[in-house]
Amino acid sequence: MNLYPVYPLFDVEIARGKGCHVYDTTGQEYLDLYGGHAVISIGHCHPHYVEALTKQLNLLGFYSNSVENSLQVQLAERLGRASGYDDYQLFLINSGAEANENALKLASFHTGRSRILAAGHAFHGRTSLAVEATDNPRIVAPVNAGGHVTFLPLNDLDAFRAELEKGDVAAVILECIQGVGGIRMATAEFAQGLSRLCQAHGTVLIADEIQCGYGRSGRFFAHQHLGIRPDIITCAKGIANGFPMGAVLIAPHFQATPGQLGTTFGGNHLACAAALAVLDVIEDEHLIDNAAETGAYLIERLRSLQAAHPCITEIRGRGLMVGIDFDGPIKAMRTRLVKEQHVFTGAASTNILRLLPPLCLTRAEVDEFIERISAVL
Ligand SMILES: *Cc1c(COP(=O)(O)O)cnc(C)c1O
Repeated sequence: MNLYPVYPLFDVEIARGKGCHVYDTTGQEYLDLYGGHAVISIGHCHPHYVEALTKQLNLLGFYSNSVENSLQVQLAERLGRASGYDDYQLFLINSGAEANENALKLASFHTGRSRILAAGHAFHGRTSLAVEATDNPRIVAPVNAGGHVTFLPLNDLDAFRAELEKGDVAAVILECIQGVGGIRMATAEFAQGLSRLCQAHGTVLIADEIQCGYGRSGRFFAHQHLGIRPDIITCAKGIANGFPMGAVLIAPHFQATPGQLGTTFGGNHLACAAALAVLDVIEDEHLIDNAAETGAYLIERLRSLQAAHPCITEIRGRGLMVGIDFDGPIKAMRTRLVKEQHVFTGAASTNILRLLPPLCLTRAEVDEFIERISAVL
């Protein structure tokens, strides 16, 4: 049997990892400025994480959600404290798309409505509603084109107001820093205006923090830079450092109906142990402060690089979520970065380099990256 060839792979196989570095099967070291797509929050193979997962696996790997699970309760408490959302309610699932799928469904149950607003360039995942709310027709199958979603330009408050005033919108879903869309940021003015409009019209505001959240922006959640309090917040990617997990944080005014949502694997013992270990390390090693400080240093170094290289047209970002616009396609450059300079980076569209390193990135590693990218420019 062959693999279904949907991934454009680099022809290297990564066999080991440590901190912000990974190693291929020949032992070659690579600097990881991609974090396995923003998933590796605390670094590869952190000893505390490895120990916590090993310990849990020896106790109990899985039992279903038909019985109590105190690890879920612990995670809810810890996540509430770490994020400043103590009064929210936690529903655990397995991935980002599923988190958004459940958030959108919940908004529809709650409001009795079926329309959704999303921003241009948005990416919310690949399940039915999540993909319908993703602004990329190439990945929306005819069966997903249900006509529920209207896309409006990010930061165009008047456009959102005109739709919200119709009174039939269940949810607005928003990445406060768009990831796949190319590190485009919602402004505070827009986010606050949108939040007020949602409240006035009985619409649920969902912050998709799957990529920009969990410390990456230099605050626990990216929307916390903008002074809003969403009704629902979705997390995944960095939440368990690679163990599949998604989370939906639900405001206190939502009242659960037993059985309305559910999952087989979501919130299992191993996933919870992984997520708890991630929070331990984020707190013990002050990784959110590090994301803010090292991220600012990275952006500063990139701006000097831009001064010397006019092919760089813009640098955007917050914390360790950084986009570098180039004046042409970057595919060949990314390949050279892997093959010649041994650096992994991400991309957005054809001309934006996207950096999503582990939150433990050091200044020395930033310097190392600047040196290596200079060599290919
Ligand atoms: C990755 C991502 C998703 C989808 O997460 P999966 O775990 O791949 O389903 C949704 N929203 C955003 C902003 C993402 O970056």
